[in-house]
Amino acid sequence: MSVSPVSAGFSCRCPRCGRGRLFSGYLKVADKCESCGLDLGAMDSGDGPAVFVMFIVLIITVPLVFVVWAVFEPPIWLHAILWPIVVTGLSLWLLRPAKGAMLGLQFKHKAGEHRV
Ligand SMILES: [Zn+2]
Repeated sequence: MSVSPVSAGFSCRCPRCGRGRLFSGYLKVADKCESCGLDLGAMDSGDGPAVFVMFIVLIITVPLVFVVWAVFEPPIWLHAILWPIVVTGLSLWLLRPAKGAMLGLQFKHKAGEHRV
């Protein structure tokens, strides 16, 4: 059975075998896949996942702010408390799968640093 590197990465699994854990910490990539031995330590997604997560969270949150504003008309202090929690929570929740998916894409397309 072949594994989709992107969906394996999205579920935080090794992009080659889909079984071993991709991360050893919250966002720290494991040195090696514990299942197939793939060298995960060499993979680096840079700032890519954070940029995608920023856009996704923005696209979800901004319309939500206007809907809540129009429908419930909450006081401004509630907005000041609610939206930072929503934005932080969504970002922390999405960052791991986004980084996994991006590492999966890099593995699939054999992307790496250009070396001379
Ligand atoms: Zn593996």
